Amino acid sequence: MNILTLFARNLFHGPVTDPFPFGPTSTAKRFRGRIEFDAASCEGCKLCERLCPAGAIKFQKTPEGLSFDCWHDTCVFCGTCEFYCPSGSIRQTDDWHLSHAQDEKYQLVEHGLIPNMKCSECGATALDTAPMQNVKPPLTAEETAKLRPMCPKCRAKFMRNRKAKS
Ligand code: SF4
Ligand code: SF4
Repeated sequence: MNILTLFARNLFHGPVTDPFPFGPTSTAKRFRGRIEFDAASCEGCKLCERLCPAGAIKFQKTPEGLSFDCWHDTCVFCGTCEFYCPSGSIRQTDDWHLSHAQDEKYQLVEHGLIPNMKCSECGATALDTAPMQNVKPPLTAEETAKLRPMCPKCRAKFMRNRKAKS
């Protein structure tokens, strides 16, 4: 197609690009966008922080618990964190709306908190993480509910007794 034919076609059919930002546009299937974090299902293993090639993920101890931050302008959207997360607590959305003014760069962060709790067995302060699901045989819903309010030591004891019974 020569340039004149192309020009004539575009003249009659309108522009071939989306009107964005003045109108709607589409998102490609399987687009890798902004990271989302679900603190309630996180096991606190910090695998995502260790594996992130860009250093975008940071866990920090705070008086309230363990805070999670993922800096969107540092993330390279590789998907490694989602791929290796054992509980599906971190995932890539298809949201690409990340353009921002320079003075807004410190607001471009996904924040979460795994709060402190008191262990239901010994009363020790521990993080309210989700129990590890990667065990055999798989935990039942009842076992998961029992483990949830326990500290790591009491969870380990529970798992030892479980193994001895099986
Ligand atoms: S459970 Fe997933 S989100 Fe939580 S620390 Fe581990 S890898 Fe990260
Ligand atoms: S997608 Fe890649 S770069 Fe972004 S937070 Fe996850 S592991 Fe890090």
